[in-house]
Amino acid sequence: MADKFDVIVIGAGPGGYVAAIRAAQLGLKTACVEKWVNKEGKTVHGGTCLNVGCIPSKALLESSHKFVEARDHFAEVGINVGDVSADIPKMLEFKNQVIAKNVGGISALFKANGVTALEGAGKVLSSKQVEVSKDGDKAVYEAEHIVIASGSVPVEIPPTPLTEGLIVDSTGALEFEETPKRLGVIGAGVIGLELGSVWSRLGSEVTVLEAMDSFLPMVDSAIAKETQKLLKKQGLDIKMGARVTGSETNGKEVTVKYTDAKGEQEQVFDKLIVCVGRRPYTQGLLGEDAGVKLDERGFIFVDDQCRTSVPGVYAIGDCVRGPMLAHKASEEGVMVADIIAGHKAEMNYDAIPSVIYTSPEVAWVGITEQDAKAAGIEIKTGSFPFSANGRALANHASEGMAKIIADAETDRILGMHIVGQHAGELIAQGVIAMEFGSSAEDLALTCYAHPTTAEAVHEAALAVDGHAIHMANRKKRK
Ligand code: FAD
Ligand code: AMP
Repeated sequence: MADKFDVIVIGAGPGGYVAAIRAAQLGLKTACVEKWVNKEGKTVHGGTCLNVGCIPSKALLESSHKFVEARDHFAEVGINVGDVSADIPKMLEFKNQVIAKNVGGISALFKANGVTALEGAGKVLSSKQVEVSKDGDKAVYEAEHIVIASGSVPVEIPPTPLTEGLIVDSTGALEFEETPKRLGVIGAGVIGLELGSVWSRLGSEVTVLEAMDSFLPMVDSAIAKETQKLLKKQGLDIKMGARVTGSETNGKEVTVKYTDAKGEQEQVFDKLIVCVGRRPYTQGLLGEDAGVKLDERGFIFVDDQCRTSVPGVYAIGDCVRGPMLAHKASEEGVMVADIIAGHKAEMNYDAIPSVIYTSPEVAWVGITEQDAKAAGIEIKTGSFPFSANGRALANHASEGMAKIIADAETDRILGMHIVGQHAGELIAQGVIAMEFGSSAEDLALTCYAHPTTAEAVHEAALAVDGHAIHMANRKKRK
């Protein structure tokens, strides 16, 4: 028997590495097992988020955004830069450097906090035993508590099996060495829209095929409508109600078959990205006697505080219910470490923000107007366009709007939805407001710095009672 720990965490993504660091900070003897190996054969921390998810996609989104700004928009504000070209290998190199820096940072944090990094695949043998195997070697470690943070992997669908260099998942779409001329994207979800945007900005003719009829149904419909309009204007051909049913490849191109309201259709692409969602990853994770139950969709079954069916064993992040988001995984990691250390901890699942890093960004927290209607909640709303915000105009970024949904009787903020420049940063106001149980009036009475795009949120809060300052149709103050 090898070492004994207070806590063993399986998986070093944003759920697992945060849980391990927090547990160690709280004085618990902690180990974190990770099996991810990079192209050089080195074990790397950070999981999907740092290696093939949030971070690399944001590096490419930012680089491609800067490229479009320089090529199409600098001249509009008086900057002439001549011919602008995109150096894709250089962009990929920068993205890889960003990954390496972030991944290296986790190893340094493990060392600084005294977390033991175990390399290999972890398997839960019982409520107190984890087997770690690597290259045929096996060791069993004992733990008072186990935290599973095994994450998720992309969903594959039978009509479009991944085909080297032609049909790829999100990971493959972060590695294209040149811009595909005709690019198909299956799925108009968060990842599909972000990756479609990257390659559209770099010159691809992008078609997004989405089976559902409603665009971004989790976002307030006014914001979703505005987003769809803006993405279309940028050149993304988003076909709604288009269900992909099959594909053929000839080594050079992919012919995709789909059905829509008009019947059976076909379209030819040079590359196809499959972005139809992610599924929990639990392969090889649970030994026969582990006793950890899965739910009907294959997620590890947990309660509100991430306890599995086995006492002392917790599960967090993408492998359990809830939104598949890095910050949700991390917050669950903190909560679980606190609980193990004997503290009271819980999470507010109603105040988890989501961001789509398109240009402009889309961000939201809480319920939508359509959710409120469906649930019979009486609400009042306030909206404000970025076109009436001084800073947005000065930034040459006047597209978008902010919308606040408040309880009709109590004025408590129930949701905030934004499409506009830096929406991902602005949404933190909505999250904090909801955490603190603020009313729309609380935001309305807050002094915002001028000129900032955050003032669009202030004006939306004022608009909840019809008193936005920079809007013509306002009510008479009572
Ligand atoms: P993961 O990050 O998947 O980490 C799980 C880790 O566990 C992996 O390192 C894996 O190797 C390891 N593991 C699994 N099984 C074992 C085992 N048996 N033994 C040892 N190790 C094991 N989310 C956001 O919040 N914002 C974004 O902008 C965003 N962008 C994204 C863009 C893309 C292209 C993708 C694909 C995802 C994006 N996400 C984003 C989602 C985000 O990456 C995930 O929600 C997040 O990584 C989940 O964290 P996790 O710790 O639960 O799992
Ligand atoms: P998300 O789960 O947010 O990553 O989004 C995935 C999207 O892919 C969803 O909007 C699904 O409706 C869509 N999708 C799944 N299967 C298909 C399919 N066969 N054809 C087109 N779209 C699909």
